[in-house]
Amino acid sequence: MTFTDEKDRMTKPFTIPMDTQHSNRASDYFGSLTFSGDVMLKRLPPEVFMNLQLTMQRNLSLDRSIANTVASAIKEWALEHGATHYCHWFQPLTGLTAEKHDAFLSPTGDGGAIEKFSGDALIQGEPDASSFPSGGIRDTYEARGYTAWDATSPVFLLRGSDGNKTLCIPTAFVSWTGEALDQKTPLLRSIDAVSKHAMRIVRLFGDTKASTAIATLGCEQEYFLIDRTLFLQRLDLVVCGRTLVGAQPPKGQQLEDHYFGAIPEAVLAYMTECEERLFELGIPVKTRHNEVAPGQYELAPTFENSNVAVDHQMTTMHVLRSVARKHGLECLLHEKPFAGINGSGKHNNWSMSTDTGVNLLDPRDDTYPNMQFMVCLAAIIRAVDLHADLLRVSIATAHNDHRLGANEAPPAIMSIYLGEKLTSILDQLVAGETKKSSKTMDLDLGARTLPQIPRHSSDRNRTSPFAFTGNKFEFRAVGSSQSVAWPNTVLNTIIAESLDFIATSLESKLGKNLTPAKMETVVRALLKDIVKTHKRVCFDGNGYSAEWHAEAAKRGLPNFSSTADALPSLATKKAEKLFAAYGVLSHRELHARYEIQMEQYCKIVQIEGRTLSQMAITQILPAALRAQGELADVVAATQHAGVPCPESEAALRELAGQVTTLRSAAATLDSATSKDVPNIEKRVRHFRDVVVPAMGKVREISDTLERVVPADIWPMPDYSSMLLIR
Ligand code: ADP
Ligand code: MG
Repeated sequence: MTFTDEKDRMTKPFTIPMDTQHSNRASDYFGSLTFSGDVMLKRLPPEVFMNLQLTMQRNLSLDRSIANTVASAIKEWALEHGATHYCHWFQPLTGLTAEKHDAFLSPTGDGGAIEKFSGDALIQGEPDASSFPSGGIRDTYEARGYTAWDATSPVFLLRGSDGNKTLCIPTAFVSWTGEALDQKTPLLRSIDAVSKHAMRIVRLFGDTKASTAIATLGCEQEYFLIDRTLFLQRLDLVVCGRTLVGAQPPKGQQLEDHYFGAIPEAVLAYMTECEERLFELGIPVKTRHNEVAPGQYELAPTFENSNVAVDHQMTTMHVLRSVARKHGLECLLHEKPFAGINGSGKHNNWSMSTDTGVNLLDPRDDTYPNMQFMVCLAAIIRAVDLHADLLRVSIATAHNDHRLGANEAPPAIMSIYLGEKLTSILDQLVAGETKKSSKTMDLDLGARTLPQIPRHSSDRNRTSPFAFTGNKFEFRAVGSSQSVAWPNTVLNTIIAESLDFIATSLESKLGKNLTPAKMETVVRALLKDIVKTHKRVCFDGNGYSAEWHAEAAKRGLPNFSSTADALPSLATKKAEKLFAAYGVLSHRELHARYEIQMEQYCKIVQIEGRTLSQMAITQILPAALRAQGELADVVAATQHAGVPCPESEAALRELAGQVTTLRSAAATLDSATSKDVPNIEKRVRHFRDVVVPAMGKVREISDTLERVVPADIWPMPDYSSMLLIR
């Protein structure tokens, strides 16, 4: 199957073919390592196949009576592909994926063995949950946790570097009380919520054919590639994924010669292998190119239903990392691996689509009146304005703090970019009604005005964290290394609430005797209200500018510049009410996430602080002392020979001073990092206000030293060698 028509893909999400051996055509091996589409059709009895299809399309839970049949077909298929083990693949709150492998092989008791895999093993697992973060939901003495098969995401075979394959069963992970211990459970609940309320809107506008609406998602992934031998020489990269010190190279991205430039051959070979691996897994990667910074690249898939897209995104990060190692490269997914040049993000392209293939955010689709598009747009504007704090906190991590608000990534103020045409339509909407004259006729919500909005508007605004890009919204503030499950859970939930609000209001105002004229009047009045109240969140200008920061403050938009500032948004009554009302997270589940995000922030900064003080004491300081010793020898010898050398003497004095500064900065960092602050909220602030600045001081003096210490003494690869040589 090819992906020339994205709409076609949405209407036929399960027509992915084949179980063939590799050929040279990508379409021939696309999805060959997933148990879906034709493979399923071929291997399952028709009634079981139909039952399973229905489960997948309608997001239902699996009928237990067919579980054994499905398990046995999956087992045969996996064994034929050489798999020896299976695992429940899940996404605990570490932000990573987890898997515990079991062999298919079972001893028979008479010295032999057979391969076994039951329906129960497919449907449910029971990993020890005690070592995963639970935010207090589950103490170690009640360590039981369950994984449950999510039949809506295809089972797949993950290849290890030596070719061995493991059958991976995407699962949700919950405690024995049924509370979510993972990212997938609330995501699935939020998809249900947004789907339910989007359908109410679709029905109001007269669609009787569609049976579900789904959130669609396509994530552009940015990453850096560096030589793996250089990577291994840097403790900061190995431990923290980013450089904690490093003087600016003479050439960074000033010449703007990397973006969309020719892809270096070694990198292209890497990308090609990644794509092959991803195609096999049914992950429809579509574009690849150089990004802005030297050594930075991007990959983007064709969008899919958001549950599958989230799983595929996790797998994509895994494949990017593991294939790099084979090519002697290291793939850095960190948001800010190198200071002074662009960081990496993950543009989270989001929309809603019916199962009949209508994109609810495509104003050009004339299947429905464009009023429906306007209603969905208004819902999103309202949602982002009401819950900007939650969107912000959904992307708040210690890593992303280095990127957001720096002059190359979206600002931390959540605003919406709509582009000139939509903005003027909204302005007309607000102005038009008040005049109630023929002027209203200017406001054409029908087919004439909107279809002119180009899908790829040329006036793109890279500085906006949340931009309308023609037929979808692009949430750009998402970090490159983070799981997209949580930001999408938040997005789905806040939009579900606004769709619910609008649907409820329209349903009550429209009543039974619906005429097109009445519909138009009522919808217009509601849209006008919403736009008037929430338009403050729309901003098309330069999001990096100081003027915007001042303007946003005037408009009352929240501006949480750091994770520490953003996190309390998870502990508000507003957040509790919202997540509980839509059945996405109970109070306890939400609070657990708040605790875990705080803990994670502290742990990440603490690890960075420890790494940096170790590097300062055991690598940088000794190198600087060696340089000082060499220089001192030269000065002494020169003076001994009767030659005055005041410049060298001054340099020696300066270097000795810098060494002293480094020593004391490292000591300050060390004590700040080890300080015991029992209260978690205070600890978060301690790390932000004391440890992060202390790391900055060490970095500053280290980077100064790097410029004067002889290159052959400097104890780690510098920025130029990591970024420019290939
Ligand atoms: P651009 O960033 O230039 O707009 P594309 O139009 O190619 O680039 O889209 C970028 C990403 O957005 C891709 O992953 C694409 O699949 C995804 N995308 C496109 N349409 C939708 C949609 N309706 N819903 C979700 N994602 C979408
Ligand atoms: Mg984009």
